[in-house]
Amino acid sequence: MKLHIAHLYPELLNIYGDKGNVTAFLKRCLWRDIQAEITEINPGDQIDPELYDFYFIGGGQDAQQIAVADELQIQKETLHQAANNGAVFLAICGGYQLLGHYYKPHNGDKLAGISILDAYTVAGNTRYIGNVTVNINIPHSNLNTLVGFENHSGLTYLQGDTKPLGTVKVGNGNNGSDKTEGAVYKNVFGTYLHGSLLPKNPHFTDYLIKLALEKKYGKIQLSELPDDIELLAHKNAVNKKY
Ligand code: GLN
Repeated sequence: MKLHIAHLYPELLNIYGDKGNVTAFLKRCLWRDIQAEITEINPGDQIDPELYDFYFIGGGQDAQQIAVADELQIQKETLHQAANNGAVFLAICGGYQLLGHYYKPHNGDKLAGISILDAYTVAGNTRYIGNVTVNINIPHSNLNTLVGFENHSGLTYLQGDTKPLGTVKVGNGNNGSDKTEGAVYKNVFGTYLHGSLLPKNPHFTDYLIKLALEKKYGKIQLSELPDDIELLAHKNAVNKKY
């Protein structure tokens, strides 16, 4: 078995260790003897929507988002095709905002997103910075939390068939008011959680790997990995007193 990973625009969107997400995804495949390969996609590169099983896009500041927003418009049809075919996407913060309809910064024009997620984002007056714990229901997992770190002023609102990834227990999440965090539509996931997210949420990483493998190869049972250190980090974050 082999998974092809597309890391979208790593030179523009890659803050708070976002790159660790693709590393965690890759390593947890390789440790199980599942082949995996990362391709970095930069502006101007063609994307083959039939090739990639997992797309990752990280976060960044408004200036980098502007550059990426323009490029995403060029890739819009291709990425829709991939998402509609069931490819797995993980988008963090600035990248997450651009998978929705638009991001309206404080100053300047709306940045058009690619509308894979039925969501929109407007800059608020508060910057949400800090640790986040999210309650989430991951199939076949006995861990029902995600931990990460948020830093955004954008307020994201979900609509239609795009559903929240989870419920905020600590922190602000999508907009600081409705307790939702992140978004899911088909196999497309968006979240405000930097961290890196996947290394300290190994159950979520495995869920994404399983989705990507099952899309390609049918029903899969992933082997267990020794996750003592990862789970120590996860539980330490969950049990932190604020
Ligand atoms: N510019 C966006 C915001 O502040 C995204 C920030 C980020 O990706 N960390 O809302």
